[in-house]
Amino acid sequence: MVDVGTQLNAPRTAAVVGAGWAGCAAAAELAANGVSVMLLEASDELGGRARRLPLELAGHWHVLDNGQHLLIGAYTETAALFGRLNVALDAVVERRPFELHYPDGFRLQAARLPAPWHLAAALLTARGLDFLDRAAMIALLRTLKKSGWNIGSDRSTTQWLLECRQTPQVVRRVWRPLALAALNTPLDRASAQIFANVLRDSLGSTGLASEMWVPRADLSALLPDAVERYVVAHGGEVRRDARVDTVDRKDRFHLHLRNEPGRTIEVDAVVYAAAPTHLEHIVGRIDALNATYETLARFEHEPLYTVYLKYAPSVRVARGFTALLDDPAKRRYAQWIFDRGALDPANQGVFAAVISSSGPHEAESLEDVCQAVAQQLTDDLGLPAPFDTRAIADRRATLAAVPHLQRPPNRTPWPGFAIAGDWTVSDYPSTLETAVRSGHAAARALL
Ligand SMILES: Cc1cc2nc3c(=O)[nH]c(=O)nc-3n(C[C@H](O)[C@H](O)[C@H](O)COP(=O)(O)OP(=O)(O)OC[C@H]3O[C@@H](n4cnc5c(N)ncnc54)[C@H](O)[C@@H]3O)c2cc1C
Repeated sequence: MVDVGTQLNAPRTAAVVGAGWAGCAAAAELAANGVSVMLLEASDELGGRARRLPLELAGHWHVLDNGQHLLIGAYTETAALFGRLNVALDAVVERRPFELHYPDGFRLQAARLPAPWHLAAALLTARGLDFLDRAAMIALLRTLKKSGWNIGSDRSTTQWLLECRQTPQVVRRVWRPLALAALNTPLDRASAQIFANVLRDSLGSTGLASEMWVPRADLSALLPDAVERYVVAHGGEVRRDARVDTVDRKDRFHLHLRNEPGRTIEVDAVVYAAAPTHLEHIVGRIDALNATYETLARFEHEPLYTVYLKYAPSVRVARGFTALLDDPAKRRYAQWIFDRGALDPANQGVFAAVISSSGPHEAESLEDVCQAVAQQLTDDLGLPAPFDTRAIADRRATLAAVPHLQRPPNRTPWPGFAIAGDWTVSDYPSTLETAVRSGHAAARALL
């Protein structure tokens, strides 16, 4: 008997639909294993939700991103992919020990020491946490470690933090910003287990794993451009402006591109790494994918806003980025601010403010959100009025990381067809690392 999920032979040719970080990882993995790959991207830029975006601010063009991103040391498969592509990690990201700084002097900063001393030093030297706050944090991490990072029945992060008797200060200054940044879901709805999984591999792990990696380059230059060079060097092809309209299977897979109506691309295998919402439309009603469609139909999404602000080149943010205390009811929307000029002189004076997850800012115009963030920066950092601002709203930025979230496996029962994306099976929220892991897993399922 043949398992319908298993191909008898590894494919010689494969198409990857979508060149986000998941599709890029899949393409690199396939190319490394001798498969002739065609990576097809609908837009004119590689990288998907983590791609470069040139923006005109106050009359100057700046190479920025569609959204400000931060990577962490726990992104082990992303780091391995950089290695495969011969990209030196330190050349593309600035690696810093875990830190949480606020403009009012609050500070929690890990030391460059082996675990658990990196964290012990952070707690000892923290500013803005009293004895009870520190004791609560230690107790929570200890309990988690003892339980193997398993919180039992999954529930909301708010509920779980309450049960773990976390003080209001620790919740507001530490757990809330970290959970929002990682899960991009309001804490009342965010899965405590997924948050615990992130803590397990970051703060709960080594000093290296809890590092924060700030991109030095734009996000396409960081990884997708290097994947393109790698795939091409391995005999494959990368095509932009190549939107796949349909995929069907006879003896092999046939792909049709929107802007090339007469042409069919024939391959042995396909990794679908585009949006989950388009899957059924592109492949049609395939019985073998029924369970996948059902899982996808239950997904909810969360937005992410990035507000770019342009100031005089001399305006700086200490240490390059800092956390901000948000208070949506008072129109204080931003949770983080990044100084894009700190690592790239071409962007001096350009700041990126991040607003995670849903909230009242969504009811405002983008101009009003920009104005509110500019005011918040004046209040907190004493910044002058910016020369120019631009908000980029991704209204379906990530999956809502809710308790008991079900995500489909990368291997599908349709032989030769695998799926990849930050929406496929993982114990992480939707992140770059989740996307990369999924791409690798989807490619391996075909190999
Ligand atoms: C504003 C923002 C900020 C974020 N911040 C962080 C962060 O700080 N850290 C972090 O780890 N993660 C962050 N994320 C999440 C991270 O960007 C995503 O998890 C990741 O990029 C998802 O990659 P993907 O390949 O799964 O999907 P996508 O990036 O969505 O890739 C899908 C690709 O498929 C293409 N496509 C769609 N349809 C077709 C078609 N028919 N034919 C061909 N191509 C098609 C799309 O154009 C796209 O390029 C952020 C996301 C956003 C939006």
